[in-house]
Amino acid sequence: RAIVRDIDKLEEQNPSIKPQPAPEVDPTVFEKRFLKSIRDLGQGHFGRVELCRYDPRGDRTGELVAVKSLKPENGQEKGNNLSSEINILKALYHENIVKYKGICLEEGGRATKLIMEFLPLGSLKDYLPDNKSKISLSTLLSYATQICRGMDYLGSQNYIHRDLAARNVLVENERTVKIGDFGLTKSIKNNEVYYTVKDDNDSPIYWYAPECLTHCKFYLASDVWSFGVTMYELLTYCDPIKAPMQLFSKMIGSSHGQMIIVHLLHALEEGKRLPQPDGCPEPMYELMQKCWEHTPERRITFKQLIDELSNMRQ
Ligand code: ADP
Ligand code: MG
Repeated sequence: RAIVRDIDKLEEQNPSIKPQPAPEVDPTVFEKRFLKSIRDLGQGHFGRVELCRYDPRGDRTGELVAVKSLKPENGQEKGNNLSSEINILKALYHENIVKYKGICLEEGGRATKLIMEFLPLGSLKDYLPDNKSKISLSTLLSYATQICRGMDYLGSQNYIHRDLAARNVLVENERTVKIGDFGLTKSIKNNEVYYTVKDDNDSPIYWYAPECLTHCKFYLASDVWSFGVTMYELLTYCDPIKAPMQLFSKMIGSSHGQMIIVHLLHALEEGKRLPQPDGCPEPMYELMQKCWEHTPERRITFKQLIDELSNMRQ
């Protein structure tokens, strides 16, 4: 009691120490000091994703989250990259797109990290090779449909993903997959049908349509091409020996730097395509080929893919 009275007196004399009513808390701002790193989840060209527990109470009851930051070597100059990814993901709501949770500000707001929901089974590229025996063809079909639904939604919001690949599809549980990694995603301003990029040395070229390789033009239909390659990855269970890069390298021989793009383009223009994976039913391979029509206008759309895939599942 005496202590309480003393505190009251101290507060009277010194109003600044009086506890302030809790300020309105923004649940999408995560405080760095409460974010406890658990392990690395993976990394790609630009980013690095870590599993963390957000534990304001400090008793390990806090939730698990996935935290994306830019790799240090990409430094501040590419800092815009992650903030554009944050702004895009923040505005997307779909059951097959990874959920945005918030941001964490670092060092006086210079670097911002992206906080997402944690998908415990990792990417399809991690998950498929290890779980081949329990993933049936009809499950693969269901994954393909879910990816198309997420992509159709993305297109309806006027975005082009530009990096659709098994490594960027995340697995929530045996039944559910979600599209992740919007690091290369661009908005198509209304009435512009394609987006031009020139400064991309790190492009995932083996997933790219001819128009991306020749003119750096990305249409919605360019994502459809990449979906075809992703479907090929699904049907090979992401077997590294059958990876798109391995197969295309065999097709075009070894070359370096820009010459790879020249040879790849040549092969595609001659009509060469990734082969039909072992155990892949003919109708599914036909669908991939519809994604790989040379001319973007002639390619199948995500809506049509959803229909055709659902016909196959009956
Ligand atoms: P980058 O832009 O560097 O390619 P990604 O966003 O693709 O970064 O993340 C890299 C890897 O981290 C992914 O391939 C996946 O294995 C893992 N990962 C990313 N986000 C999550 C998540 N929300 N839950 C679980 N694993 C994730
Ligand atoms: Mg990635």
